[in-house]
Amino acid sequence: MANIFLSSAYNTYDQDKPYTSLNTPELNDIITYINEEHLDELLGFLNAFTPISTAELDNIEVQLTRVYAEGLELQVQAKNTESSSTNAQDHPEQSQAFFIAFPAAITHPDELQIQYIALKQKADKKLGKKTIKLTKQVFDVQDSYRVSKNMLRLELNMPTLNNTNGTSNPTSVPINEAGYAYLFDLEHNALIKDTTADNIDDSKNTSRLARSHCYYTLRKAWQTPTGIQAWVDVFLHGNTPGGNWANSLQAGDTLVTKREFPEKIEHLRDGQALLIADETSMPTVARLLELWENPTPPLVVSVTQNAADQRYFDTVKIRSGIDGSITNRIDSNSECTTKNTVKDNFTVLPIVTDQQCSGQHLASLIDNTIGNYLIDQPIKIDKVWGALEASTVKALRPMLRERLDLSRAEVVIKVYWRQD
Ligand SMILES: Cc1cc2nc3c(=O)[nH]c(=O)nc-3n(C[C@H](O)[C@H](O)[C@H](O)COP(=O)(O)OP(=O)(O)OC[C@H]3O[C@@H](n4cnc5c(N)ncnc54)[C@H](O)[C@@H]3O)c2cc1C
Repeated sequence: MANIFLSSAYNTYDQDKPYTSLNTPELNDIITYINEEHLDELLGFLNAFTPISTAELDNIEVQLTRVYAEGLELQVQAKNTESSSTNAQDHPEQSQAFFIAFPAAITHPDELQIQYIALKQKADKKLGKKTIKLTKQVFDVQDSYRVSKNMLRLELNMPTLNNTNGTSNPTSVPINEAGYAYLFDLEHNALIKDTTADNIDDSKNTSRLARSHCYYTLRKAWQTPTGIQAWVDVFLHGNTPGGNWANSLQAGDTLVTKREFPEKIEHLRDGQALLIADETSMPTVARLLELWENPTPPLVVSVTQNAADQRYFDTVKIRSGIDGSITNRIDSNSECTTKNTVKDNFTVLPIVTDQQCSGQHLASLIDNTIGNYLIDQPIKIDKVWGALEASTVKALRPMLRERLDLSRAEVVIKVYWRQD
């Protein structure tokens, strides 16, 4: 590949400029986290704020190397060079640093998140993409019940607000978007419960939860005459803050969300897609199927610890117009069973782990399951979307890119949770 760094137009980082160092110990962890889980956003910053083109993005490696009060230093290196497996910082002659300025300078790492989000919003706007929103929304709980052994469905309502002139205010809940996620404020409900219990022990009122907020996906939303109805499906995995919060909710409770963002699914519009879900991303995959517009039905890998949770997909129907009338279910030991109670056509490859399983082991299990399936099926996978645990994602991305011979943009596998 041509050395994209030869062009003087790329030499935009004035290293002599005295940017202010933020030398706090927690920055190293933040930098590692962003490099592991938010590479696509760093590429978006390069695309939006430097002359590097969309086509070139697939041929470079990027790393966040420093956080200054005024912005981020990104180190970019061409891929497939002899040193591509080594650190860019060890080979400065083959890499190029770019400075991406924050909309406003920060004074402490606590302020980094706000400026990072502001930068992402600016980049997405420039690239014409939907972006993260820092808006507060309020839902009412109407009901909750299990839809599979460990999946709890919250039925929510967001009433339409009437203006003083009698017209109704349409809410901004996306009805036709799969994977749209909300950051739920768990503390809101904990505080209300403390105060309504007329708790005389003040120390309890100020006690903080181990986790004050948690992301959950809008499983489905639809308009009714009185407002928006919505489902949010929460996977219960024992005694955890998110699960306890969801379990404790009762009809009439209010839920507050603080942040919301769209899922990265544009690449699934055409080609043969492979969707990979665990219990936390089954709601996203279910909605993807219901809103499926791609003429080719996807292949779905569904990973659960408990076999009973595989039933989650039993009632999910792929959008009509897709050719076929049978859902195929192939169990993990490759014995093929056909389930024809649902009149749809998408193939589910279930993987039941029976115990907590993540990282390299689960990644290999998923990779082998796909490999075995492709031995018998003459299909070429063109696109991948999945969301799993952090260490599984890290191991699985390179495996699938190699097996399926796909580019970074074609394999989107997100981190939805993290094993302690
Ligand atoms: C964009 C996005 C959308 C999401 N949508 C959904 C959704 O629709 N439904 C949903 O259920 N989750 C969803 N998640 C995942 C959810 O936010 C995480 O699973 C979250 O960590 C749960 O919080 P917790 O308080 O229950 O457990 P934590 O406080 O995160 O963890 C407590 C303990 O449980 C373990 N643990 C955490 N999650 C799991 C798990 N899934 N399986 C097994 N062990 C686990 C941890 O290792 C830890 O030991 C989404 C996440 C993201 C980022």
